Amino acid sequence: MNILIFGPNGSGKGTQGAIVQKKYTINHVESGVIFRENIKKGTEIGKKAKEYIDRGELVPDNITIPMIISRLQEADCKNGWLLDGFPRSIEQAKALDEALDKAGIKLDIVIEILLPREIAKNRIMGRRLCANDNNHPNNIYIDAIKPAQKGSDWVCRVCGGALSARSDDQDEVAIGKRHDIYYDDKTGTIAAVNYFKEVAKKKGIKIIELDGKPGVKEVTDDLMSKI
Ligand code: AMP
Repeated sequence: MNILIFGPNGSGKGTQGAIVQKKYTINHVESGVIFRENIKKGTEIGKKAKEYIDRGELVPDNITIPMIISRLQEADCKNGWLLDGFPRSIEQAKALDEALDKAGIKLDIVIEILLPREIAKNRIMGRRLCANDNNHPNNIYIDAIKPAQKGSDWVCRVCGGALSARSDDQDEVAIGKRHDIYYDDKTGTIAAVNYFKEVAKKKGIKIIELDGKPGVKEVTDDLMSKI
């Protein structure tokens, strides 16, 4: 099962993606996570990507596209993948579509989570990352996934691990840039969503649209009833 998931930063895409990934035991491939791992390890990709990520800009295609296309062809993606955070532009969408065709890899589902920009922004600023597991959702502004309290500190609601905020999640200018890219329907991510919806219609691939405004559980129920 190969799935593309779209949604603005803050739409709960990571949370819903983790649920889909477990349901089908497929590999969750997240472009942002791959970049952050590269930065942590101090790789060449990490060094090149960091300045763009800190500014909330897209890492250039000559780094991002080959990185993702080759990641999807690694052994642990043989049983399927859930691709999250890529494509983010019309150019990336075309490159992915062509690469999948060339490799004979079939896409099964396109998921889009819809959320107004202002709500997405508030949710991003409340997001916290668990030191033990990137798929443990925590958000200080969302009751359903509010972190646990330990003394005066917040800790992961799933495992009690330490929490941190991503620096690019606390920077309103960077968030604005990321959303400018997402909501751009000419060349940005919405354009990529529309591109893949057209591909899906032509090839008989399932399209699932979800309203991201309700709580995590409601969105999950909606997703499960449609998938
Ligand atoms: P995310 O964790 O998805 O919010 O991604 C964090 C940052 O990684 C983004 O703001 C970009 O700088 C970079 N990034 C992630 N995915 C892509 C992509 N598909 N193309 C270019 N840059 C990306």
